[in-house]
Formats: sequence, structure tokens, C-alpha cells
Amino acid sequence: MCFDESAMKMAKSSFLSKSSSQFLLSAPVDSTRSSKCCTDKAAKFELVDYDSLPEFLKHNQFIINYYRSEWPLKQTMLSIFSIHNETLNIWTHLIGFFIFLILAGYAASVFPVDSNAYPLFQLNTLGISSNGFYIHISNQTTETANLEPVGSVVSRWPFYLYLAGAMFCLLMSSACHLLSCHCSRTSYIMLRLDFAGISGLIVSSYYPIVYYSFTCSPFIRDLYLALFTTFGLVTVVISLMPVFDSPQFRPVRAVLFASIAASVVVPIAHKMIAFGDRPEAVLTTRYEAVMMMCYGVGVVVYAARVPERWLPGKFDLAGHSHQLFHVLVVAGAYTHYLASVVYLRWREAEGC
Ligand SMILES: [Zn+2]
Repeated sequence: MCFDESAMKMAKSSFLSKSSSQFLLSAPVDSTRSSKCCTDKAAKFELVDYDSLPEFLKHNQFIINYYRSEWPLKQTMLSIFSIHNETLNIWTHLIGFFIFLILAGYAASVFPVDSNAYPLFQLNTLGISSNGFYIHISNQTTETANLEPVGSVVSRWPFYLYLAGAMFCLLMSSACHLLSCHCSRTSYIMLRLDFAGISGLIVSSYYPIVYYSFTCSPFIRDLYLALFTTFGLVTVVISLMPVFDSPQFRPVRAVLFASIAASVVVPIAHKMIAFGDRPEAVLTTRYEAVMMMCYGVGVVVYAARVPERWLPGKFDLAGHSHQLFHVLVVAGAYTHYLASVVYLRWREAEGC
């Protein structure tokens, strides 16, 4: 335990005796102090202003108040239930994580991970099964229908890989916003897990698009997947370089992630050239256009730091750019989930 016990008790009794409104006042913390983990024993439980922060917590000068700064780990974790300028950043992605957890549970009931559980059957007339799968229904009675499997069942792992990537991203982001204020070392680790999560979301998003669009062209499918996976790993490595921690390189990092995300237009355009006459291809492309719009607007808002730039201090608790960015990320990820369901049903219906 790196936090002095007696200082903790004093701080805790002080913390408990103060009204909640007093917590919102800035504490006189020396901004020149070391950011080394848990070296400062004073004013650990008060919310402070931007000028009182150590350098590693200075990310947005337009958010003026309500910062947690170098709190002990226990208090940092418990702050998930208190009000500060990261509360909505934590919860927007934590709620997003639970939304995807529920979606994964629902999807597992419709598209079991064990793809042999619901084999497709080839009959005479197109219909839809009770579990949402397209099947062909015979003119014969149910008792005499002759059901024949339609070749190999489509792999579902790319669909579930995307759901896992989205959940990992949202959980890491939420944890990063919760824990990074603890100390510089924690911030360093959590920021890198956050970057890894963003890259995981982007790369895993490619898999349903590429895998199901080009199921029947394994060489093209595998080439795309190899290229995008490599591109994603390179982005992770570059974004982990310490130089990208500085505020002046924040837009560069945003552009880096936006570039890899934007590269998804290549397989989507390829899909439309190859299958533009298919309603599934058109529908998934519409979903993907909405997804890209959500991510694109989110990145612009994130990099521009609006609206807090226009009214510094007025959006400290609610409405600042990072919260808007989070909501747009969840919306974009959900839109891609809808597209992925269409892809999977398309291939389940047609096979290859
Ligand atoms: Zn965030």
C-alpha cells in the first residue's frame, strides 16, 4: 500500500465531514509537485481545478473544475459512484459495454456459437425459420419434408470477434477514465489499454465486413484481413510511443486512428462493386455509412474540443466533447452490430 495510513485517516475524516458542495471547490494543490505515484499525502479527496493538476492529468484546459487528482486507488475506484468531470465519461462507455453484453447474449440465442446447432436446409420455397434463419420450405407437409443441408455452415466467429472487440474497447475506455487519475504510472498503463481497445474495435469491425462479403473468395478475404490486422497492430505500436502523450500531438493521434478507420471504405466499395445488386449489400452499406458518420463526427468533436472551447468551465460535468465522442462511438458500434447481423443472415441464407 503506497498511501500513508494516518494521512489517509485524516483525509478520510475530513472528507466525510465536508458537504458535497465543498468537494466541488478547488483545493490549493501545488501544480509543480512530482507526479510520482502516491507521494503527496495532502488534499487527496478533494476535487481540484485544472491549474492544480500534475502534468500527466492536464489534457483539456477548457475543462476548468471537478478533477480528481492522485487519489488512493480505493477512493479512485469508489469515485465511479460520485460526481466529477469523468463520471459521464466512465458511465457512457460502461453502459455501452453492458448494451453489447446483452446484444451478445441475444445473438448467442439466435446465432449459437456452435454453428452446427442450427444447420441450414435446402427445400423448395424460401422462408424464415423461427430462429431467424432463412430456410427453404417444402411444398410437402412437414412430416414428409425432405430436408437437406446446404453445404457447409457459415462461420460465426467473425461476428463474435466484433462483439468481443467492441466490449473490450468500451470496458478499457471506462476503466481508463475511472483509474487514470490515481497516479502517472496508472495513467500511462490505462491510456495504452485504451488505445489497444480502440484499435481492437476498429480492426474487429473489419472482420464481419470482409469475411462475409468475400466468403466465396478466400484469397481476397484473407488478404484484406491480413492487411487490416497488420495496419491495426502498427497503429497500436505507433500510438504507444510516448511522444503521442503530449497535448500538441493529440490531433495527430486522432488522425491516425481516423485513417485506419477510414480505410474500411475500400472493402465496402469492393463489396458494392461485386454485390451492388443485392439488397443485403445495400443495407449493410447504409449501416456502415451511418457508422462512419458517427465515428467521423465523434473524432472531429474530440479533436476540436467543442463545445467547452466556446464556454470554458460550463461543460465540466456534462456536455463536454469527450462525452459526446463516447456517445457517438457507442452509436457507431451499435450500427455496425446491426450491419453484422445482416451480413451473417445473408451468408447463412446463401452459403457460398
Ligand atoms: Zn474516452
